[in-house]
Amino acid sequence: MTFFIHTFGCQMNVNDSEKMASLLSRNGFAPASRVEDAGVVIVNTCAVRAKARDKAFSYIGRLKPEQIVVLAGCVAQAERRELLRRWRRIDYIVGTHQFYRLAEIVSDLVEKRERGAALGFSRGWTELVPENASRSSRVTAYISIMEGCDNFCSYCIVPFTRGREKNRPARDILAEARQLADQGFRELVLLGQNVNHWIDPHSGETFSWLLDRLASEVDVRWIRFITSYPGYHDPRLVDVVFAHENIARHVHFPAQSGSTRILRRMNRIYSREEYLEIIDRYRQRIPDMKFSSDFIVGFPAETEADFLDTLSLMRRVEYESVFSFAYSPRPLSRAGDWPDDVSGEVKKDRLQRLQRLQEEIQLRNNRERIGREIEVLVMHPHPVAAGEVVGRTEGYRVVNFPSSAAPGSICRVRVTGAGPHSLRAKEAGA
Ligand code: SAM
Ligand code: SF4
Repeated sequence: MTFFIHTFGCQMNVNDSEKMASLLSRNGFAPASRVEDAGVVIVNTCAVRAKARDKAFSYIGRLKPEQIVVLAGCVAQAERRELLRRWRRIDYIVGTHQFYRLAEIVSDLVEKRERGAALGFSRGWTELVPENASRSSRVTAYISIMEGCDNFCSYCIVPFTRGREKNRPARDILAEARQLADQGFRELVLLGQNVNHWIDPHSGETFSWLLDRLASEVDVRWIRFITSYPGYHDPRLVDVVFAHENIARHVHFPAQSGSTRILRRMNRIYSREEYLEIIDRYRQRIPDMKFSSDFIVGFPAETEADFLDTLSLMRRVEYESVFSFAYSPRPLSRAGDWPDDVSGEVKKDRLQRLQRLQEEIQLRNNRERIGREIEVLVMHPHPVAAGEVVGRTEGYRVVNFPSSAAPGSICRVRVTGAGPHSLRAKEAGA
């Protein structure tokens, strides 16, 4: 029997899908390269915005009637058994803590197509998949270090879909990281909804300790971590990033808004000033430190003045990149019950203005790099331009350049051109 997994949403979902693929392959199922050739289709879903949720259902609507459909992930967890009643096309729903049972569930479905659901939450961290053998890249590997979230930002559904925070023991993280480095991965990304809130369940050691240990013991070019919550910043982290050449000087640090008034309503526990203070502390110690962020526009009661605070924060920080979203009311979240009082038109206008500003910032910063020599990690051959490769800088900027270097190589390149989203370069000395 063949399977195909389609993933919506964030890097956590991509990581979960890799683990599901690994579990199924180990249990005698074969991956199909195209969805139309698969007997079983797993749709791993995202519930963060209504649009992502709706996309999953239109995808399911296009599947062939004879294909077995399993809906996994955040939408399953949020909407539960109701889904089976409303969507006859779904054979089984599997929640965010139950996918380790996927092989058994799919085997039963193949035998007798009986509809059902697996939705329970687990209490502590469990090593669900001892080895993820289906990684999508040979250069970058993702390592989950914590799951769930206890922050309950008022707009967010994640605490309800992923449950309470659970931390993975340091010894398991360190063992996986060493193994990945031995296998030749050049970049490790530590994953968690609140990655900087990690704490070792046995010793009580904190995230800066873990990062220090990893950077000292694991031989890779860059260690990254996503996503950091500004409310839990530990000043020791700045020293750890400064001390290790193999920790990328780039932090994804979602502000969400530049207005303290809106941050309060969002239940984010920091103010604009506290956020900027952390950025300044990093930059005093590490002048070339890069940041990226997420922003939501059109949150309930956001005024033009609040929005202008967001734009001024962006000008002040000069982010390397920004993910921006129009506010989408979500069930279960606190703000989901509040009037969604910023019109669709205003949300769209603010989103466009924010994105235009960010493009200007990126273009200016990228142009300043022309003529400079930088270090690039080669990710893969260019998908269209023959003889070219695609790489990433330490700040996660895409660089395209002619080269025959293999994925995973580190190249010194000279920047020759710049657009808002990527750089062009040639190998230094070429
Ligand atoms: N844990 C991370 C954090 O705290 O930044 C990210 C969680 S979420 C999967 C990714 C991003 O989606 C958030 O940073 C936020 O900008 C956006 N988001 C979450 N809920 C949203 C909503 N209801 N409407 C629009 N965007 C939302
Ligand atoms: Fe959602 Fe806030 Fe938790 Fe991020 S920190 S997952 S935005 S509740």
